Amino acid sequence: MKVITTNNDLQRILFQMRSAGKTIGLVPTMGALHNGHLSLLAIAKTTTDIVVSTIFVNPTQFNDPADLEKYPRPIESDIEKLTQAGCDMLFAPSVKEMYGSNETWRLDIGRLETILEGKFRPGHYQGVTQIVYKLFDMVKPDTAFFGQKDYQQFLVISKMVQLLHVPVKLIMCPIIRDSGGLAMSSRNVHLTENEKKQALVISQALMLVKQQFAFQTVDQLKTLATSIINKEPDVTLEYFEIADRETLEPAGRDSVKIVALVAAKVGHTRLIDNIILA
Ligand code: AMP
Repeated sequence: MKVITTNNDLQRILFQMRSAGKTIGLVPTMGALHNGHLSLLAIAKTTTDIVVSTIFVNPTQFNDPADLEKYPRPIESDIEKLTQAGCDMLFAPSVKEMYGSNETWRLDIGRLETILEGKFRPGHYQGVTQIVYKLFDMVKPDTAFFGQKDYQQFLVISKMVQLLHVPVKLIMCPIIRDSGGLAMSSRNVHLTENEKKQALVISQALMLVKQQFAFQTVDQLKTLATSIINKEPDVTLEYFEIADRETLEPAGRDSVKIVALVAAKVGHTRLIDNIILA
């Protein structure tokens, strides 16, 4: 696997690939790789000729400086995992490589900016669109792969692609969970054993809501999920919403495509998860 840290090298190698007629897939990550990330890579490998993964802990999308500082950065083992998984290229730039000084960015993504994740993480999606736009512009992938785990992020990026006419196809890949059901996340390394056990209520609530979806009203389902999650003393629910899959507005009588989304703090660690209901 080629490991690249500068835009110059990236352009030189991508030019060779494109000249050889290869299609390019992009898997953007912040590193601390787990099987969720590797599943994106596996799907990318079946879709495009060349797969470029990126590892960049993007400062502009962190609304909590402590979260940015403690974000895990095990670059050596990440390189090992990507190599094993058959990734063609890793682009792992420095902050200086990606950002000039005094750069500003503002994209009107509408309601997605202020609801659910947007509400609890002000400015987060401006940072996400800023960095993903830069990566799209640099790599110019034919296809880019993102996880359903960050469901709202996928909608935000789709909106950006539409607004800025970026010629890329987006693919949403399923959530990978550990054997207990906990959605894999780089932040799970911060959980103590006890917190890991308590965190299971998040996926358990989602699974139960899916099971009961045909039999209960949206309000009943939300109450049910909330009561399950609130049973664990170290789990603090931020939101549990049952929403329209395209707008993320609360699901109503005529909603057809529906997703349940949840965010909760387990100790000091913030986790998100979701499940498609219809
Ligand atoms: P991150 O490194 O957390 O920014 O995630 C990079 C990409 O991996 C994003 O598109 C995430 O949605 C995706 N991802 C993270 N966790 C999972 C998971 N458990 N299953 C599937 N995709 C995931």
